[in-house]
Order: sequence, then C-alpha cells, then structure tokens
Amino acid sequence: MDPLPKELYEIICCPDDKGDLKYTKDKKGLECKKCKFVFPIKEGVPILLPKSMQKK
Ligand SMILES: [Zn+2]
Repeated sequence: MDPLPKELYEIICCPDDKGDLKYTKDKKGLECKKCKFVFPIKEGVPILLPKSMQKK
C-alpha cells in the first residue's frame, strides 16, 4: 500500500536541501537521502517543514 499518490511522491523533496525523499521502512515517514532527516506522515499527509520548524 502506498499512502501517497505517485505524482506527489515524485515532486516532493526535502525543504532544507532539496534532497530526494524515500519512505522509511515502516512507511510512517519520509527520509531525506542527503541529511537523513525523517519527515513524519500524518494521516497520509507528509509534514514537510524545515527542520528548524519541526518540534520533537
Ligand atoms: Zn534534507
């Protein structure tokens, strides 16, 4: 099961360095291939905020 439409998956990228994103193993997040930061996916929507705006 792919929670994101293919078209969307192809255009999204890391907001910090424009790196490609790939699914984490559990598919609950998108990991940047450059900075290795994992962006969470909440209810099917990837939260692509710059790292400085994400709160842990
Ligand atoms: Zn990145």
